[in-house]
Amino acid sequence: MRAARPPALSAESFLRNYGLSTREGVALMCVAEALLRIPDAQTQDALLREKLGSGEWNAASAADWALLLTGTIVRWHDEPSTLKSLVSRLGEPVVRTAVRQAMRILAGQFVVGETIEQAVARAAERPRYRFSYDMLGEAARTAADAATYLDLYLKAISKVKAPDSISIKLSALHPRFEEAKRARIFAELLPRLTELAALADRRGVGITIDAEESERLELTLDLHEKLAEKFTPGLAVQAYQKRAPAVCDWLVALGKATQRRLPIRLVKGAYWDGEIKRAQQLGMPDYPLFTRKAATDISYVACATKLLSAPDAIYPAFATHNCRTVATILELAESDFEFQKLFGMGDTLYDILLADHPKAACRIYAPVGSFTDLLPYLVRRLLENGANTSFVHQIADPSVPVAELIADPVAALPEPYVPDPRIPLPREIYPDRANSVGLDLSSQKVLTALRTRTLADRERAPAGPVEPTSPQELDFCIARAQEAFEAWSRAPAAQRAARLERAAELLELRMVELVSLVVREGKRTYNDAVAEVREAADFCRYYALQARTHFDKPIPLAGPAGERNELRLHGRGVFACISPWNFPLAIFTGQVAAALAAGNTVIAKPAEQTPRTGFLAIEILHAAGIPADVAICAAGEGGTLGAQLVADPRIAGVAFTGSVETAKLINAALAKRDGPIVPLIAETGGVNAMLVDSSALPEQVVDDVVISAFQSAGQRCSAQRILFVDSGNAPRVLQLLHGALAELKVGDPADPDTDVGPVIDADARHALLRHIDKLAKSAKLIGQAKAPASGNFVAPIAFQLSLEALPKVEVFGPVLHVHVYEKKDLPKVLDWLRGTGFGLTLGIHSRLQSFVDDIVREARVGNIYVNRSMIGAVVGVQPFGGEGLSGTGPKAGGPHYMLRFATERTLTVNTAAVGPAPTSRSRSSRRRRIVPASWE
Ligand code: NAD
Repeated sequence: MRAARPPALSAESFLRNYGLSTREGVALMCVAEALLRIPDAQTQDALLREKLGSGEWNAASAADWALLLTGTIVRWHDEPSTLKSLVSRLGEPVVRTAVRQAMRILAGQFVVGETIEQAVARAAERPRYRFSYDMLGEAARTAADAATYLDLYLKAISKVKAPDSISIKLSALHPRFEEAKRARIFAELLPRLTELAALADRRGVGITIDAEESERLELTLDLHEKLAEKFTPGLAVQAYQKRAPAVCDWLVALGKATQRRLPIRLVKGAYWDGEIKRAQQLGMPDYPLFTRKAATDISYVACATKLLSAPDAIYPAFATHNCRTVATILELAESDFEFQKLFGMGDTLYDILLADHPKAACRIYAPVGSFTDLLPYLVRRLLENGANTSFVHQIADPSVPVAELIADPVAALPEPYVPDPRIPLPREIYPDRANSVGLDLSSQKVLTALRTRTLADRERAPAGPVEPTSPQELDFCIARAQEAFEAWSRAPAAQRAARLERAAELLELRMVELVSLVVREGKRTYNDAVAEVREAADFCRYYALQARTHFDKPIPLAGPAGERNELRLHGRGVFACISPWNFPLAIFTGQVAAALAAGNTVIAKPAEQTPRTGFLAIEILHAAGIPADVAICAAGEGGTLGAQLVADPRIAGVAFTGSVETAKLINAALAKRDGPIVPLIAETGGVNAMLVDSSALPEQVVDDVVISAFQSAGQRCSAQRILFVDSGNAPRVLQLLHGALAELKVGDPADPDTDVGPVIDADARHALLRHIDKLAKSAKLIGQAKAPASGNFVAPIAFQLSLEALPKVEVFGPVLHVHVYEKKDLPKVLDWLRGTGFGLTLGIHSRLQSFVDDIVREARVGNIYVNRSMIGAVVGVQPFGGEGLSGTGPKAGGPHYMLRFATERTLTVNTAAVGPAPTSRSRSSRRRRIVPASWE
């Protein structure tokens, strides 16, 4: 294979010239991913200049590019540093056209045709292979996308002839292919699948359901099982999943039970990076897939053995580009099977193989679709196959010896087996503290358990008002907390830290009880409620660590000889912690934990709407060993009890999170107090925007907008209120947004399929409806979800407005304001944003680093998120908090927060006065050393 030069412009030749670990390889991938879909020339040129303008383009790559561009631009290979000279001319229309053309040629190497007719015609040129066509594109975001895909699949099935087949991606056929939407999936997606399977059956064409992320596995298997009652559907199995061998057993049993020979495609797996990231982000106990490549290779052989052992139940297909795997399968197989390969990859391997084994069969998995859709797909494929450990990458690298390339994977594993130490378990990703544990909400079992518990609790303990703390009681509470301060503040910081760490464990242990309460009282969805518990636990551990690091021992300071200088941090006294209802557990616990860790005692006042959550959090702190008088919960109205608390001269500091109006009231109340001036840490609201340019990927933008603007019914301080979108990208973005809004389910948060729960109370609802009424008269409606008629629901909604009409105040609910801007007006947009005076969160979506850099430089905002959603800050990872009207700082969950809860004292000792510090001498001999040593 090494000797045979790969076809020009194949994946192998691409990887040979540009390893993906090189800047050039990455630059080309970035251009490939974005160029063709960018609507305007100006942004296309900016992308080319940025991505191709740097990098060492050697002769080999220049030659390749010349090859790509043959016929389009003058003979580059005649000039040695062609790309450099090209770069200086970037921006010229001819260059842009040439590179676009080059991208189309590159795309043509991986897509068999833009339409199924073209694909079938091109496939006929390779009679030695069978084909399975895949309709290119990412997952459907809207019902319209899903309908388009269904038509494409139906058409493809009707055009294809056996033995060719069709591969079907379930997430393309339904915009909400998720476990939580199981009932909807069975009601809506199953009929679509049945229609496809029935047509395929009539035409004698096979269909195979593609494998997707592990969170969709159970749902995929159940749909496949249902289809297998009437048809013979194929399925892809991913060997990198730890469940793969069990899935193979299950499929063998299904084939036997239905007396059908199910076509099963065994692949290694295509979503490795995403799966690892997701497991870490969700705090899963372990990864759903193997972290070692060799373990996947072994799993592949184990699965192959299972599939080959039941020829009556399974017709296996082995998708691989790896010589060793191919050889292993040839050895193992005693019945018929086929190999599979990707279009544009592995040609050398299979051309040799089919020549050597005339009876062997190989099917090409062949993407069909527009080149614009292709490129993100191509990038993913190349990244997978270009990973340094992959066979395709290594065969392209002449420095890797063949013996190593075909080495036994069993020998490559440590004995006894341990996972790859470079990939710590999700719980261990932080070097100095544990990550919080999450719940797997893609498991039907977990969802059902949460729902059962929440409904039972709702039945048992109907929500009613909580007895408020009276003014006299509050007075007494403050006295108790003041009394307890001395002992608590003198306790070693490590002891305080240990109790907070215990509290973190208890929060995790009582996850289900807490989730149920947050759902019932705070009206949060399960997703949000689990995140609340995790964030509360993270706060406890993070501040415990800060206490150990900064409060346990004095911090030595440099100074002159003969003097010892040190800085010590101490608690200030009784802290008032006042929190909002919208993070009833996380923010409440975070404030209290920081104050306690710093050595303060605390009176914590939860919001009027969520007192029970506050009381439970304090109960858990007590159970973790924090004395009852050290952390006290007082419930009541902000304007009365809250005001009394803040005005009390015994309060040594206030940590507040809530609206900017309340923050100002508290600030004024503190200023009026006699006695010492005390710290106020205030975290308030924002007018948060996302800026989207024309290089951004609309699908990704809309995914992130829906999360940022509508999750938690828009009742997060970080939530997106405004979308600024470039006019070039606006049509597609707004069309997707319209469709995505229609997919949101608004309803009871105790139902696992609810995306958006109610707003917190009737007052909030009325205020929002008034705002929406006003917009309905003056702005253009982009889209809207449906909401139940009764209850405090507000349907997520989006309007398009002029810059002048955008709100400069926080609209605290699921209302998105969209402004379509022209490129030249971007400075005006940035001025407008700064003019609001708020500075909490900002989102940016762009493929242009220069666009991102310009905005980051101009923005006066606490938290900026690029190419992702703009909510969900993680403790210690994205310390959270704003500036200007959005808050005083320091950021919660950041390294400077706890210091604000502390008072600083220095100690300076003249060591020369008593001589140098004693070493190991006895006390009596030390006492005698009054005379400096040099005098003795
Ligand atoms: P709010 O200001 O009405 O109430 C917050 C807390 O302050 C409640 O506990 C309330 O009882 C208390 N309070 C009210 N008046 C008081 C007074 N005069 N003296 C003392 N305490 C008083 O806010 P809310 O409606 O509960 O929460 C929503 C607001 O919080 C939004 O503006 C949101 O942006 C903001 N928020 C900010 C952050 C952040 O980290 N920046 C996080 C969450 C919420």
